[in-house]
This record gives sequence, structure tokens and C-alpha cells, in this order.
Amino acid sequence: QVRPLEGELEFRNVSFNYPRSEKPILDNISFKVSQGEKLAIMGATGSGKSTLLNLIPRIFEASSGEILVSGMEVREWPLKDLRDSIGLVPQQSILFTGSILENLSWGAPSVTTSDTEVHIDELEEAAKKAQIHESIDSFPQKYATRVGQKGVNLSGGQKQRLSIARALVRKPSILILDDSTSALDVKTETALWDALEGENATMLVVTQKIQTAKGADKILLLDEGIVVGYGTHQDL
Ligand code: ATP
Repeated sequence: QVRPLEGELEFRNVSFNYPRSEKPILDNISFKVSQGEKLAIMGATGSGKSTLLNLIPRIFEASSGEILVSGMEVREWPLKDLRDSIGLVPQQSILFTGSILENLSWGAPSVTTSDTEVHIDELEEAAKKAQIHESIDSFPQKYATRVGQKGVNLSGGQKQRLSIARALVRKPSILILDDSTSALDVKTETALWDALEGENATMLVVTQKIQTAKGADKILLLDEGIVVGYGTHQDL
């Protein structure tokens, strides 16, 4: 199994500007998440949450400061190893026209379409953890069901869970959920967090829900690119 990096993550005085932005979008951000810990990130819209997450797999490069994964600066890691170790579920689920199986195995280093018999188990396991297996199983064509044009219409919550399952298939050391549970009801979300407990992945979770943040080891509060709170739910 591809898992080159362990999940410890540290931001040291990280700042970031988009090319034409006047003031920093992220200003001197520092925090640390130990292997297996869960960090909730909260803040108003536009406070910089998505931007911060995108710096980790180097979709954008920090303007200054250091981002360490497993104790080494992200710029030092081979990009492939870094990205193979990170499962980033974006705010808008990206599904393409094709089967659920293809959507789930997309980008997974260990899943090959020629060998789906063997790996369907892994896809199912990920789908179960992401609380989407039952929905898939209820479709007449199950994992062969097509999504997108002429396919089934998935609900917002089903799309989110499918995107989470896709990230889990790759067994990431760091799982990043950018507001990926906003459309889930409380019961489903609770079941999801329970299932993810066993993953031993470090998790960064952007959320608007205080209940979700309470379940994290620590909370990072952002306001206009500045950390205005950092600690356990009780500290804050
Ligand atoms: P939301 O909760 O609405 O997703 P957020 O906290 O994730 O917001 P970001 O998406 O990180 O916030 O945006 C932070 C700031 O950066 C905003 O002012 C936004 O307008 C700006 N921004 C985002 N993407 C770009 C870009 N590609 N170029 C320039 N500015 C951008």
C-alpha cells in the first residue's frame, strides 16, 4: 500500500498572497496536528480556509513560512509521494460521467480497472466507511450505476459521501475534508465520524457545525486570514 508519509502536519508562520491580492489571504498561520489527530477549521466565508488546505498538497505555494509533513517541508517531498499521501475532498464534489466504480477508483494508485474483482472489496470498504454503500447497493446496477449525464441523479449528500469514499480508497495519511459533510444529516455524519475513527489518518475538517468541531481534538478559528483562536473546544 502506498503511504510514503506519516500524517504529522505543522504550519510555521505561513503566509500566503494570491498574485494580485493586496493584503495577505493567510497571515502568519501556525499550528500543529499530530499523527492521527483531528483538527477542525472554522471561520466565516472568505476567511481563508480553502486556501490554507490547498497549500498542503502544494496546489498553491506558501509565500513565506514552512509547512511540514512528517517533519519535512512540503517542497522537499517528491510531489507524487506528497499527493499520494493526502486525500483532499474539495468543497464541490467532482464526479465525472461514468460508473460509480470508476468514480471511486479514480486516482487510486492501487486500484486498476483490469483487476476490479480483487479491488471491489476495497471500494466497498471505503464506501461503507463513507456511509454511501447502502445507497449504492440500492441502485439496480449497484457499483456499475452510471452517474452524470443520463445516469442517476445523486443528492448533494450522496455526492459528498461518494467524494469522501474516493479519498478513503487511497488510504491517505492526511484526510482533508473541505466542508464535505455540510449536506449530511446528524445521524449519517455521526456514523461517518465513528467509521473514520478507525482510520488512523490525520484529519483536517472544515466545518460550519459546532457539533462537528466538538468532535475534533483541536479547533482552529480563522478570521480574514488570521488565527483568532486555536485550542480544544473547552479552551475556546
Ligand atoms: P468559504 O467558506 O466561502 O469557502 P474560505 O474560508 O474557504 O471561504 P477561501 O476560499 O480560502 O476562503 O478564500 C479566501 C480569500 O481569498 C477570499 O477573499 C477569496 O476571495 C480569495 N481568493 C480565493 N481564491 C482566489 C484566487 N484564485 N485568486 C484570488 N483571490 C482568491
